[in-house]
Amino acid sequence: MKIGFIGLGNMGNPMAANLSKAGHEVAGFDMVDVDVPGVVMAASGAEAAVGAEIVITMLPNGQILRAVADQILPAMDSGAVWVDCSTVDVDSARAVADQAAQVGVLAVDAPVSGGIGGAAAGTLTFMAGGIEEAFAKAAPLFDIMGQKAVHCGGSGAGQAAKICNNMILGVTMIATCEAFALADKLGLDRQKMFDVVSTSSGYSWTMNAYCPAPGVGPASPADNDYQPGFAAELMLKDLRLSQQAAESSDADTPMGQAATALYEQFVEAENGLGKDFSAMLPRFEKRGRG
Ligand code: NAD
Repeated sequence: MKIGFIGLGNMGNPMAANLSKAGHEVAGFDMVDVDVPGVVMAASGAEAAVGAEIVITMLPNGQILRAVADQILPAMDSGAVWVDCSTVDVDSARAVADQAAQVGVLAVDAPVSGGIGGAAAGTLTFMAGGIEEAFAKAAPLFDIMGQKAVHCGGSGAGQAAKICNNMILGVTMIATCEAFALADKLGLDRQKMFDVVSTSSGYSWTMNAYCPAPGVGPASPADNDYQPGFAAELMLKDLRLSQQAAESSDADTPMGQAATALYEQFVEAENGLGKDFSAMLPRFEKRGRG
């Protein structure tokens, strides 16, 4: 298949390399000079998109996505498919899908879970929004770049699923970290805390699979001095998207709002930038109530 791939950063680079390795003809474009194994670099996004059966984008945010839409959609063939794998706001995802429909391009929003490791290993999870025909055409590529793809509904449904999931993740990580910090102050051994909670009703992915306490539970960024992993600033980005969506849909999300404020403080006013999002635990353990 002839594929255009735009946005070859931490995630896009290995994803495009995996498509090329699987035998597809991939033309790539990024704003900065990059080298991707097996991918022929184009001079612009439009050039990468010309003649492609499927164009994939993996970009930082909704504003850039809208700008790239203006560049690539006029270059794409009617009937071609555009899969946007970036994590962006639901409104931008729906706006570019409408713009694509006007020129006969089938748009799918398909943000991913699994991080840089999952992108390199081809084990991402895709959550997709768009019409069935578009999802079906993109499915063979999801199989190469990932291990699971869920068709969540119409345009924007993939982004909606992603930010709802990550709002739970951010809230749960904070709850797990503050509980560990409280347990410390109560003189409870962290390993005992893990042994109880991981098999009791307080269990969660953040406790059981990604424990924020070093030396406790399975290996996690906590065991590597909180090097990401999933950086606190990326958690903040997703939490902000959840609050943007909550505002535009009039949803009451007090815990999501509190988690957004805490990660904002951690990243922008404390030393959270560049740390894993589980570094909330050393933050809480140093604090009292005042
Ligand atoms: P990144 O910043 O490493 O890559 C983005 C790339 O887009 C950069 O190389 C940048 O030069 C390029 N770019 C920017 N504007 C462009 C334009 N107009 N035309 C062409 N290229 C342009 O970011 P990333 O970590 O690869 O993440 C990409 C997306 O995936 C983000 O939306 C992010 O939220 C999401 N995501 C990231 C992770 C992760 O762990 N890194 C996990 C899940 C989802």
